[in-house]
Amino acid sequence: MGHKSGFVNIIGNPNVGKSTIMNSLVGEKLSIVSPKAQTTRHRIMGIVNGKDFQIVYSDTPGILKPRYELQQSMMGFVNSALTDADIVMYITDITEKDPSENEYLKRISLSGLPVIIAVNKIDLSNQAELELIVEKWHSIFPDSPVIPVSAIKNFNLDVLLNAIVERLPESPPYFPLDQLTDKYDRFFAAEIIREKILLNYRKEIPYSVEIEIESFKEEANLNRISAIIHVTRDSQKGIIIGHKGSMLKKVGTESRIEMEDFFRKKVFLEMHVKVTKDWREKPNVLKRFGY
Ligand code: GDP
Ligand code: MG
Repeated sequence: MGHKSGFVNIIGNPNVGKSTIMNSLVGEKLSIVSPKAQTTRHRIMGIVNGKDFQIVYSDTPGILKPRYELQQSMMGFVNSALTDADIVMYITDITEKDPSENEYLKRISLSGLPVIIAVNKIDLSNQAELELIVEKWHSIFPDSPVIPVSAIKNFNLDVLLNAIVERLPESPPYFPLDQLTDKYDRFFAAEIIREKILLNYRKEIPYSVEIEIESFKEEANLNRISAIIHVTRDSQKGIIIGHKGSMLKKVGTESRIEMEDFFRKKVFLEMHVKVTKDWREKPNVLKRFGY
């Protein structure tokens, strides 16, 4: 058997653990994770090389009904993931409601692509409940493996990996063996800050925020990074900064520590908050932010 390669696109509802699963399979935290829906806004590639295979994962935003321009663009990333996949990895979790109400599943079925179902978060479940859930998914996708996993506990991800490799088409690698992702350092710097904002603020704040990396200078022992936190309203600016700057300082420290880990280098991080009214609605601004 020759070399196998293919695109495995990760699709599913918000918050089921798509990004956590991709990070575990890739072995690097490429995609940010939080308990909030719509954490992932872009499509992010993670590349894994084995002895005779290469898997190109794409993590995508969760399936949603768009309410504003930004979400329209996010859903575009999800839809494109159905057109260029060799394998669709549909992630669900043990809490997902009746799948027969999920319109998107019909589109996945109709795509004719090989589908692998991963039922995540089984650490929160019991055997009896899990058997029912697996049964249910088998009846919807009779030709697909249904694999229970726990991304957080690293349980059964090897079985998931084997199911993927089995279904990869024969092909030479698509990417150089030392390439890990399609995104640049600037992107990851922005995403790390966005994750810390998701984890530190409640309500609509994280959904109103976009991070722009103003400058990213790689020096010999240091990455010097300057970022703008865009918000949509004046009132949000104060909330982001916090009393005497305490919140912004906390977010800055947490971001810097994670960046140093990710870039394996010291980081000097500077951040400013700016009100950019309605950035989520303006096509030209969205384009500048990479949507
Ligand atoms: P996504 O929106 O589908 O990409 O989901 P995330 O990867 O951002 O994860 C959403 C939340 O579920 C986060 O709080 C994760 O820590 C949590 N999570 C992910 N995998 C597991 C798991 O296997 N078990 C449990 N208990 N929680 C998980
Ligand atoms: Mg995600």
